[in-house]
Amino acid sequence: MLEKREFYINGEWVAPAEARDHDVINPATEEPCAVVSLAGEADVDKAVAAAKAAFPGWMATPPEERIAIVEKFLAIYKSRSEDVAQAISMEMGAPIDLARSAQWGAGYAHTKAFLQAAKNFEWIKPLGEHAPDTMIVHEPVGVCALITPWNWPMNQISLKVIAAAIAGNTMVLKPSEESPIDAMIFAECVHEAGFPKGVFNLVNGDGAVTGNALTAHKDVDMVSFTGSTRAGIAISKNAAETLKKVHLELGGKGANIVFADADEKAVKRGVIQMMNNTGQSCNAPSRMLVQREIYDDAVAAATAAAEQVKVGDPSEEGRHIGPVVNEAQWNKIQGLIQQGIDEGARLIAGGLGRPEGLNRGYYVKPTIFADANNQMTIAREEIFGPVLTMIPFETEEEAIEIANDTVYGLTNYVQTQDGAKANRVALKLRSGMVEMNGKSRGAGAPFGGMKQSGNGREAGVWGIEDFLEVKAVGGWS
Ligand code: NAD
Repeated sequence: MLEKREFYINGEWVAPAEARDHDVINPATEEPCAVVSLAGEADVDKAVAAAKAAFPGWMATPPEERIAIVEKFLAIYKSRSEDVAQAISMEMGAPIDLARSAQWGAGYAHTKAFLQAAKNFEWIKPLGEHAPDTMIVHEPVGVCALITPWNWPMNQISLKVIAAAIAGNTMVLKPSEESPIDAMIFAECVHEAGFPKGVFNLVNGDGAVTGNALTAHKDVDMVSFTGSTRAGIAISKNAAETLKKVHLELGGKGANIVFADADEKAVKRGVIQMMNNTGQSCNAPSRMLVQREIYDDAVAAATAAAEQVKVGDPSEEGRHIGPVVNEAQWNKIQGLIQQGIDEGARLIAGGLGRPEGLNRGYYVKPTIFADANNQMTIAREEIFGPVLTMIPFETEEEAIEIANDTVYGLTNYVQTQDGAKANRVALKLRSGMVEMNGKSRGAGAPFGGMKQSGNGREAGVWGIEDFLEVKAVGGWS
């Protein structure tokens, strides 16, 4: 079993001030696969102090030099792809093929897009022709606390670390306690790339002690957080005491509107997309709204698609889904499936318990409910597992109303072969992102949500701007 108790502070791996061991559980075996340490207040103080000391130097480093270091990082990250993929698969249960492709690949793609955006970025630019002596200057926010979840760990870590670093901030990363090992490999890549001491620091830890110490710390200027809405609220309250800038990427309950004129693969595509990463994606299309004319056919197609979703050991190659991340999440999902049954939705695939032959590991049956309505718990709560809820609708207006009737506003989906209708609906959906007819957003597009899905945007130029202050300087000569 791996033993990795150190934290990465001020350019070196250091022992924790006080030992607090934490077992990382492999969700496929239910056995510990690694031991790490959880940081206490003294460790957090040390990491924040290192970041604070490094800030003036890193801020003054020309953007081209910061970009050159990130370019080195990218090559090293590429060379460690297999290590990253194996760690992700072991810690959070992503099938190894997915870990090698989309999970590792998200970190690679975001970093490349940041580099592209940074090269074209105007750090200092005039306000406009009407005020030629007024300059708009972009400068870093300061010391950032970056707190990330386990579900797409390299995606979230790269979105924060690389953007913050390119923008000239220094930082302390606290990855999820469910997936600390892949974050430590990421830190090794940062180290090898030659980031100056103290620019990037990593402490492992939980929310209650480590996360709390970071978000309350007087020397932290900004918190960038991805995770649950519950934790986002706690963090906002904590950070309010010192009026930190807070960026939040939270949960979702995406609607996938399937109109009667959708292409024939739309329903199957929606099911597969829901099950991807075992349903553990904030932007999962977890409510499928289907127009009444094609509803019965869609239910049949969804059942058939769910039956084709194989569940299996994440360490094995091939197309399947793995277990969910931990026992608590397994129990929560079972409770929500039971609630769906109790509230009268019709189970058309999967259901309670483990899939046949998988008695060990936090495996969940790919599950679909039909005949649901939008007031049911399974249509309102983020389940974060392979569970899809199908809801019929009659008209375009009704579909938009149901889609928007949620506290979340992250990603919605539209399926129709009528381009004008697709665009019209996209403009009325209250979410940070809309994907239509199986086409996802391009690399470097802004990622983030409205309402209780959070604020601010990550990725591309928007992701860099989120880590910048804007200074207006008059009288520039
Ligand atoms: P979580 O909120 O429990 O934990 C996320 C991170 O926050 C972890 O590092 C955890 O240790 C830390 N944390 C928890 N409570 C904290 C507190 N009070 N103070 C400081 N830190 C705290 O979420 P999770 O279970 O790891 O991840 C799943 C959630 O993340 C889902 O709700 C999902 O929708 C959301 N998510 C959102 C996005 C997005 O971009 N919008 C992306 C991925 C996941």
